[in-house]
Amino acid sequence: MRIDILTLFPDMCETVLSESIIGRARAAGLVQINCRNIRDYTLNKHGNVDDAPYGGGTGMIMQAQPIYDCFDSLAKEIGSRPHLIYTSPQGKPFTQQKAVELLEYDNIAILCGHYEGVDERVIEETVDEEISVGDYVLTGGELPALIIADCIARMLPGVLPNEEAFMLESHYSGLLEYPQYTRPFEWQGRQVPDVLISGHHANIEKWKRQQSLYRTLIKRPDMLEKAELSKEDLEYLESIKKTLAI
Ligand code: SAM
Repeated sequence: MRIDILTLFPDMCETVLSESIIGRARAAGLVQINCRNIRDYTLNKHGNVDDAPYGGGTGMIMQAQPIYDCFDSLAKEIGSRPHLIYTSPQGKPFTQQKAVELLEYDNIAILCGHYEGVDERVIEETVDEEISVGDYVLTGGELPALIIADCIARMLPGVLPNEEAFMLESHYSGLLEYPQYTRPFEWQGRQVPDVLISGHHANIEKWKRQQSLYRTLIKRPDMLEKAELSKEDLEYLESIKKTLAI
């Protein structure tokens, strides 16, 4: 898969994308993530890419032309039009499920707004979907673009040491993950749950499932409404609710 981030601040993205798991995946060619500088495409002789909003108001608006030409040059380079996401606080909320849906594309481009946002006409002309990373406003779309790229890339084959690891994590299955522990067995008087060192595989799996259900009930009960639950899961949840009187 190829992901191109269209931004006025490519160095900001590059710094993050060069580190850790994603940095190694890029170096190994498991995913191609490029940062394209929108400013390189301005026709303005002073290099400007933004201007004041029509109708007044605070801040500056990113102009349509450099964004359009940046995207157009990318499409020509690839030889087809990538699926273009605009990061926006007005977009649909980003979720694990959305990230899984995006895995279907071979080429994704992510447009990062900045300042007060982007001229609406280039959004209408080029953008396939708007995605928000939460109900709050950031200074720019670079952090959201990095979140989206990271979340997609870590699900690509070979990026994580264990290919199915992400399927066991919070959200993928519709539940939160069970608590995790590592050595030492005892730390500051707190011991790892006995079942985890019992060597009894079935009991360990049962404990993990019940812990996932318990955590989701306590921390994110809204998620249980959509989760796929077995009869056993529902019975366990009922027993917990009775115990906790909730
Ligand atoms: N004036 C815009 C509004 O009220 O909807 C907000 C502009 S924001 C200051 C600048 C840019 O940051 C946006 O164009 C967008 O690309 C990005 N951004 C800010 N918050 C975001 C969020 N929650 N999710 C995704 N992108 C966001």
